Formats: sequence, structure tokens, C-alpha cells
Amino acid sequence: MRALLVVLTLLATLSSAEAATSLEGNITQGGLVIGQTDPGASVTLDERVVRVGPDGLFILGFHRDAAATATLTVTAPNGTVEQRTLEVAPRTYDIQRIDGLPPRMVTPPPEVLERIRRENAQIAALRKIDQPEPLFRSGFIWPAIGRISGVYGSQRILNGEAKQPHYGVDIAAPVGTPIKAPADGTVVLAEADLYYTGGTVILDHGYGLSSAFLHMSAVSVKVGDRLRQGDVLGALGATGRVTGPHLDWRMNWFESRIDPQLLVPPMPGQ
Ligand SMILES: [Zn+2]
Repeated sequence: MRALLVVLTLLATLSSAEAATSLEGNITQGGLVIGQTDPGASVTLDERVVRVGPDGLFILGFHRDAAATATLTVTAPNGTVEQRTLEVAPRTYDIQRIDGLPPRMVTPPPEVLERIRRENAQIAALRKIDQPEPLFRSGFIWPAIGRISGVYGSQRILNGEAKQPHYGVDIAAPVGTPIKAPADGTVVLAEADLYYTGGTVILDHGYGLSSAFLHMSAVSVKVGDRLRQGDVLGALGATGRVTGPHLDWRMNWFESRIDPQLLVPPMPGQ
């Protein structure tokens, strides 16, 4: 009887501790989750310490190839530790074979390798930013309307050579179509001509979450600009290494690639 009581008490403690933390979103590969816990709590996802806002808000992201489970640990201000195993739903990805490309589109010429290395390092540094304002709270809209011509996670095999998976959603539309901020954010990169991605803007939504907009024909914002959801940041184009005009919209939670399509309603007209 006493043992039973102890068990019941433990269960009650566990469930009340769990009730203090809620998760909303897609616990899936490429998914973003918005969490709410007690103000003053600390949160880790596997080994990563996650920012918790003064109101208890936090976010989690899962990479394309995230493992089947992740461990969420929430330590309440009173020291109570809640540990949850999150089941991360697996996805299957499209594999696209594109043959007959000019070799210089598959393997960059040696004279641009240094430029590519520099640009990659610049972008990698931006992905470490953990800006303390939760601008993502505006929610998300499509930055442009058009035909979806490429999806998250797909992998391209170019001239028989497997390339890095595609991490964005491609929206095909005419050159010059305005691109709008999908959520509030601060511009942390505004470049007219990067090697792979051409006209490129990165918008920081806070807490490690950012959007990137690639292949733009015009960039109309500068680093430091604060945008509201719907503000125009440039125009759709075909700059960088592309085969036709489209916007490639990517999202990151730090180095984890997030599928933007999970955050917006279905594309109108699809
Ligand atoms: Zn793309």
C-alpha cells in the first residue's frame, strides 16, 4: 500500500511537471516546434542549450536527417527536472536526377573555390546568431506566390553525382515578382551576387530561426533593416547557379534546416 502511494505521488509529480511545458508544431524531420514553459526554466534539446524567453517561450528545430528520437530536458526554476523523449517523425524525400548539365554547373571551376569558401563561412557565422527578440511570433506567410518547383529535402543527382540535398522550397514565378518578408525579422545579410545563390537576403526571426531568399534579381534592403511581415525585400530572379527564375526560400534553426512549407498554408492555386 505504501509502495503504491509512492508510485501515485511520483506519477502526480511527473504529470504536473509535464503540464508546465507545452509543445506546438511539427515534431518531424524539417519541423519547427514552439514551446512554452515556466519563466526561468532552462531547456536543452539533446546537448544544445536552448534560449528560453522571459515569458518561458522557446523553439526547437529538427534537421532533414534528424534521428528518430530527441531528448528534451526542462529544468524548472525550483530544480525539478522533466525529461521527455520526443519521437521525431521520419520523412521520405524525392530524388531528382538531372543529366546533361554543363560540367561547370556541377563542379565549380577551381578559380571560384576560394570565393565559395568565403561565402560559405560568412553564412555559417550568421547561423550562430541567437537574437533575443521572438520576431517569429508574427507567424508566417508565403514570401511569393507561384508554382512550387522544388521541395525541401529532395536530393539532386547531377550528371550522376549526388549533391547536397535541397533545403528550401522553390517558387517559380516571373523575374521581378516582389518577395515579401514571410515573418517579422532583421536583415543580417543582403548580397547582390553570391556564387551559388546570386542575390541573397537572410532575415533573422529570433531565437536562432532565420529565412534565406536566393536567386533574387534585386535586393532592396540592407543589413540592419527591421522588416515587418509582408514588407518587400527584393524581387524574384534567376541569379546564381540556376536553370530558371524562382525564389528558393530556406529556413534554419541554427545549423538545422527547417522546411518552410510546414509553416505556411497550402500554396494558393496548387
Ligand atoms: Zn532551390
